[in-house]
Amino acid sequence: MNAAPLDPSAHRLSPHFSLAEMTVSATGSRLGLSNLPGPRELATLTRTAERMEEVRALLGNLPILVSSGYRSPAVNRAVGGSSSSAHMTGHAVDFICPAFGSPAKVAAHLARNLTAFDQIIEEFGDWVHIGFGPGQRRQLLTARRIRGRTRYTAGIEGV
Ligand SMILES: [Zn+2]
Repeated sequence: MNAAPLDPSAHRLSPHFSLAEMTVSATGSRLGLSNLPGPRELATLTRTAERMEEVRALLGNLPILVSSGYRSPAVNRAVGGSSSSAHMTGHAVDFICPAFGSPAKVAAHLARNLTAFDQIIEEFGDWVHIGFGPGQRRQLLTARRIRGRTRYTAGIEGV
């Protein structure tokens, strides 16, 4: 049994987050790209899932929908991620929590209440990016597409 390959849907990283949802990639699946983390990234992703339990609790224990957690280098390239993306180390998660509110509302609430984080970015009004990298900068940004280019401005609406 111990030699069985890792089953992402059965493997729980924390009470509410499975390996499957923390490695989901619609683009990766469509392109047939592998998105399984190595041992080092898996260890980081497990700590990230534990931090996401804090996020979930702060959002009233409402369901969190992850659109991107870990990204292999190939998947990160395919989605146009930054070459230094915290998703590639397993430190970052893109998610929504529609029952709590808009991404801006979620981001603002977490910015005010989460004790330690590296980055919270409200991205395009569509989702929240949270990074738990070692920098712990508490950086708050809003990303918008302006004439096809991504522009970041400091802060999150309402914070
Ligand atoms: Zn992200």
